[in-house]
Amino acid sequence: MENLASGKEENEAENIYRTLVEELPLPVALYTGREMRVSQVNKALLKVWGKDSSVIGKTFSEALPEMEGQPFAQILDEVYTSGIAYHAKEDKVDLVIDGQLQTFYFTFTYKPLKDQSGKVWGILNTATDVTELVLTRKGLSQAEEGMHFALDAAKLGTWDLDLLTNESSLDERCRELFGFTAEESGNYELLSMKVAAEDREKFRKSVIEALNPDGQGHYDVIFRTSSGENNPRWLRSLGRAYFNDKKIAYRFAGTIQDISRDIEAAKEQQKFLMLVENSSDLIGVTDLAGNVTYLNKAGQELVGLKSPAEYKRPSSDYLVAEDLSELQESINTAIFTKGRWTGEMRYRNFETGELIPCQLNAFVINDPETKEIIGMASVTRDLRFDRARNMEQQKLISLVENSADLMSILEPNGINSYINKAGRDLLGFENEEQALQMPISELHSPEDFELVKREVLPSLARDGRWAGKMMVKHLKTGEIFPVYNSSVRIDDPITGETLAVGAFMRDMRAEVAAQKAQAESEKLFRSITTAAPTALWLADENLSFTFVNQMWIDWTGEPLEKHLNKGWLDMIFKEDRQLVTDKLTTDFNARKAHESQFRLSTPDGEVRYVICTGNPQYHDNGSFSGYIGACVDITELNQLQRQKDEFIGIASHELKTPVTSIKAYAQVLESMFRNSGDEKKADMVKKMDLQINRLTNLIGDLLDVTKIQTGKLQLNDSDFDFNEMVRELIEDLQRTTKRHTIIEKYGETGVIYADRERIGQVITNLISNAIKYSPNAEKIVVTTSVEGNEIKLCVEDFGIGIPQDKRDKVFEQFYRVSGDKQHTFPGLGLGLYISSEIIRREGGRIWVNSQEGTGSKFCFSLPRDRR
Ligand code: ADP
Repeated sequence: MENLASGKEENEAENIYRTLVEELPLPVALYTGREMRVSQVNKALLKVWGKDSSVIGKTFSEALPEMEGQPFAQILDEVYTSGIAYHAKEDKVDLVIDGQLQTFYFTFTYKPLKDQSGKVWGILNTATDVTELVLTRKGLSQAEEGMHFALDAAKLGTWDLDLLTNESSLDERCRELFGFTAEESGNYELLSMKVAAEDREKFRKSVIEALNPDGQGHYDVIFRTSSGENNPRWLRSLGRAYFNDKKIAYRFAGTIQDISRDIEAAKEQQKFLMLVENSSDLIGVTDLAGNVTYLNKAGQELVGLKSPAEYKRPSSDYLVAEDLSELQESINTAIFTKGRWTGEMRYRNFETGELIPCQLNAFVINDPETKEIIGMASVTRDLRFDRARNMEQQKLISLVENSADLMSILEPNGINSYINKAGRDLLGFENEEQALQMPISELHSPEDFELVKREVLPSLARDGRWAGKMMVKHLKTGEIFPVYNSSVRIDDPITGETLAVGAFMRDMRAEVAAQKAQAESEKLFRSITTAAPTALWLADENLSFTFVNQMWIDWTGEPLEKHLNKGWLDMIFKEDRQLVTDKLTTDFNARKAHESQFRLSTPDGEVRYVICTGNPQYHDNGSFSGYIGACVDITELNQLQRQKDEFIGIASHELKTPVTSIKAYAQVLESMFRNSGDEKKADMVKKMDLQINRLTNLIGDLLDVTKIQTGKLQLNDSDFDFNEMVRELIEDLQRTTKRHTIIEKYGETGVIYADRERIGQVITNLISNAIKYSPNAEKIVVTTSVEGNEIKLCVEDFGIGIPQDKRDKVFEQFYRVSGDKQHTFPGLGLGLYISSEIIRREGGRIWVNSQEGTGSKFCFSLPRDRR
């Protein structure tokens, strides 16, 4: 350069060059120095770079920062150091043009510029933008490749028949498609034999048609070849017959193509069509004019069409005008912006006129090649069923919502997506939103939630369910209380993936409180029974003992378990055991109140007398539950009873002797007074004697009781006339009362074998009682009779009578009228007891019929022939 730049001409020459370079359509640049400073760059290259002249004076890297990462700076450096030029052909360069990174292809040269000594001082960069060329070539090669592929895929073969010479020429592909072997020559006859039998007729017919001199000479036939039976090859042959002026066909030629793939595709299409045709959803297609061109079976049914032909009508016919006008705008917008519209509309049933709510899914159909809109399709769902189902669902939801227990659905993220009203109240949620945001970890104390994590969640993951007691926390009051929780994992029925957990919770506070109260009452019951002075027992419905109290345990000296079931029986004296078992079993089977007396052996070897009672128990529903009973220790009572009996025996015996001598003295005294004529004194002693008789009778009764109890009552049986004895007794007894008349009614009793004295004592007792207990009555009726094998005697009075519940008691020892009557009617309460013992010993029966305030009728019967 320095050489050039000398003098004016040189300057001018430089200017000319510079201008030339500036305007050159080829991009040119000059970089100088090791740092590659852009010292010159023409307009063409600035345009390529997308820069202006401000890059002049900058280094290559400063001028073109976007080149970083591309190898140009390095190449330049190499050219500079090596002094060897670099040529690139169609190299890819990424440049920023108008703020966008674009790819270009360049053919360029970096030429080193050297001084005389051969030292490089700069690099000349010339380039040609070949981007368009490269891209066009690329596109071309792609098209070429595609064509090649298409031809290949089409597997087009050619055939040509010279009809005059009858020579045929089939190309290789044609022969292959027909399935000719190498040896076979392709004449027409053989060719038609290669056609599958079922298509051969069709094949021949179309050949004849093509060769028809009056026709067009066109030939187009689809047929199968006979090779490959299961998977036949489908071929399509297209051709033409050529005719001369005389209308004689001289040449027949055409192509042949394998269309098996198209046929398969058509079959697939057919399957889709079947699917659509039989879909339970309504599927329809309309053309651009809005006329329905297809409607599947479900659709025809829904709108009540009888024949498929009827569906070809404007789509507006199917719909309700108001729906259409209301929705038209939204439909149009959706279809034009998104190509589809989804919404609800009513369909009209042509047959019934019913308007059917439907969910409509409409979309445009584009031509797959041109992308032009060619029509619309819609898939429609009858909503009536869904609505009904929704209502069912609604009912279920309202059930759940109104349940008294908590019901919730827990999502895998640990937050409830549903919790019913009862649940929100139970846990103290402010409102629904709060309930649906609160993680379940907040619904327990930290320790309790640890338990949930450790037990409940793993069990749900493993078994799909968990049920049990857990503690929860009330959000407002902070109270921690027990609930019964039952949770089930809800899985997707198809994928098996866990969707959620359904939980149920019942407040257990009331139950726990009730349990506590029951436990307390049980405790109370136990302490009462332990403290009770009586022994208590419980038996179940099978007469198995389930409980005895401490008192029984103390009596027997054996622990509780020894008495359970039938164990308690072992404690009873051997001699009494069978009797008690029998009595208890009988009462138990009859569900009757039980009473028995028996002896127990005590731990210290003593005998304990007890009297046990039991009463049947029933559940609330009325079913039998077992027995509850009590036992009282009567050992001491028995002891006292014995002492009393002994005392009575001794006392009456001791009384008898002095009374007997008093009576003897009284009788002597009476006769002495009578003899001396002192009647007044004699009458007084007589009255004394009568009182002594009463005393003697009382002592006699006491002695009789003692005799009965000690088994010493002697009976001296003999034959006697029963009525006669009764007559004699009544004669005496009538004298003791002025008020009453004793009416006698005799039956044919005859002779009886018994103790005359003792039977007389019974009759006397009955008539005396009748007189005594009917102070205001005027008569007493005595009847004798024979009934079967028995003699019967009855004494009827019209006196005070006996209350119903006391009727059996009157025959017991010492039983007496109670209350204020005790003093009105004197007596010891022994007469009937002795009488009943006598009758029993004689093998008879004694009983009473009575009505309080009206009177009583005492009767006994005796066997007639006891001998
Ligand atoms: P007592 O007459 O000495 O009291 P009893 O053994 O003869 O003793 O009678 C027992 C009880 O039966 C009487 O106290 C009385 O209450 C009742 N009784 C007996 N006979 C009659 C009767 N005819 N009418 C009403 N009560 C009677």
